[in-house]
Amino acid sequence: MSTLYFKNAIIATEEEVFPGGLVIEGEQVVSLVKGNVDVKADLVEDLNGRFLLPGLVDDHAHFNEPGRTHWEGYLTGSMAAAAGGITTVLEMPLNSTPPTINRAQLLRKRQVVKDQAVIDYAQWGGLVNNNLEDLADLHEDGVVGYKAFMSNSGVDFERIDDDLLYAGLQFSGQVGNVIGLHAENEYVTRFLGEKMRAAGRTDRASWYESRPPESELEAIRRACYWAEVAKGNLHIVHISIAEGMRAVAEAKKRGVRVTAETCPHYLTLDQDDFVRLGPVAKCAPPLRSRQEVDALWECVLAGMVDTIASDHSPCTWEEKAPGLTNIWKGWGGISGIQTMLPVLITEGVHKRGLPLTALARMTSSNPARIFGLYPQKGSLMPGADADFVVVDLNKEWTLAAEDLFYKNKHSPYIGFTFRGKVEQTYVRGKPVYKDGMIVVEPGYGKALRRSAQ
Ligand SMILES: [Zn+2]
Repeated sequence: MSTLYFKNAIIATEEEVFPGGLVIEGEQVVSLVKGNVDVKADLVEDLNGRFLLPGLVDDHAHFNEPGRTHWEGYLTGSMAAAAGGITTVLEMPLNSTPPTINRAQLLRKRQVVKDQAVIDYAQWGGLVNNNLEDLADLHEDGVVGYKAFMSNSGVDFERIDDDLLYAGLQFSGQVGNVIGLHAENEYVTRFLGEKMRAAGRTDRASWYESRPPESELEAIRRACYWAEVAKGNLHIVHISIAEGMRAVAEAKKRGVRVTAETCPHYLTLDQDDFVRLGPVAKCAPPLRSRQEVDALWECVLAGMVDTIASDHSPCTWEEKAPGLTNIWKGWGGISGIQTMLPVLITEGVHKRGLPLTALARMTSSNPARIFGLYPQKGSLMPGADADFVVVDLNKEWTLAAEDLFYKNKHSPYIGFTFRGKVEQTYVRGKPVYKDGMIVVEPGYGKALRRSAQ
């Protein structure tokens, strides 16, 4: 096997940032090199002072395959991910049909997608209201976690009540897996939503007014409580409020095994943006106030956030369009896998002084750890998979719809000017994205399984 030396870079790991290089052999990292020094290798590539980060592990994305492939699919979804510096994606069990809630459906999904992806991937299973006895099979087959909803998901994926939350958490603790939880209070959000619709509200603000911060906070606190009682492993997905992050931090202090995720859109866009943008920026929990965006950044900068994930949740424009005149009728979900890293560099690194070490920790090392893929993924240590991204940290560029690899090219960030551009993405030593193009064949991406922790 030949060796390849990427020299003259600035390396950013979760621990440190330093001028140096990376030596790889075949699919794996051989060593990290400090300083701009010569190393004997079969091939040398000069990165001319570009930044080199561990490839991102996006722990939350919906690719809709099988069943809703016209929404995205593993091929276009993974191409967009690669263009965004993501080298491993953890794909959600819902918004595909049927949802991944038992062994047969997981195996069927794996069969359907096996020749599609250009980056590595693993699957989530689901915890719904009638599949407790399927969790063991799914664990055996290597799902990285179980997604569950406290509030209605809006699709053919049944929400759970506290009985099954308790049981699922207990199971996760026993086998060393994790429950990934959408935390919003079902009864209050439903009540408020019905009230608004009964009053004839169709405006955009009615969407976020029906899902207030308190309905998220109560659910987060309750979930942490049950994780404590059931001795489970809990990962709360897409937290949109600082008070929710603080609730998780307090639970951690009590010894609860809970981790917190947020998403780029909660750190960038606010309610006023939502009123301006409309259905393209509709999601749940909804976008919050500008004060909340700033407060959430404080939590990120204070080290309280475990992972940042895209929650890439695509659909056709036909699903979104009815929301232009009646926000209740537009599909909820933001397409964001390709823009996650540029958003975080622009809004975090440049505007708020987010250290690259923290960025690498939240977008790569931590998700790999929480979902049982570390240190094969999420690391640049010798022996790890050679998954990395080369970034021009200062390059300014403006997103156009035709830049997007999504099957449906809508995004709340079209026309947004970023500072920081993904130039190359490597998966297991091979370039998959380079200078605007995907440079591997579909199917290069490998299926991964959770190693229990
Ligand atoms: Zn999601």
